[in-house]
Amino acid sequence: MRCYDCATESGISTEAHATCAACGAGICLTHTVEGYAQEPVKATLGNPSARRGHGRRMFCSKCAPDYLAQAGLVAGGMLRAG
Ligand SMILES: [Zn+2]
Ligand SMILES: [Zn+2]
Repeated sequence: MRCYDCATESGISTEAHATCAACGAGICLTHTVEGYAQEPVKATLGNPSARRGHGRRMFCSKCAPDYLAQAGLVAGGMLRAG
């Protein structure tokens, strides 16, 4: 599999090292954002509606969840671009 983001952004062909957990696109190391599984929990006032689950999830820069941006794991701008 090839990296979808490399192909669409730069027109280059790069070997994919992971698959986006959200959209299923192939992603190279440069475009991979490492996150974690989330479990939805019953929302109560002032509490988060999801908590960290077990395991790792890989996302492309487009699908990286908000919690990764808040943690500073996603370069600013990449997440909201497009
Ligand atoms: Zn790439
Ligand atoms: Zn994705």
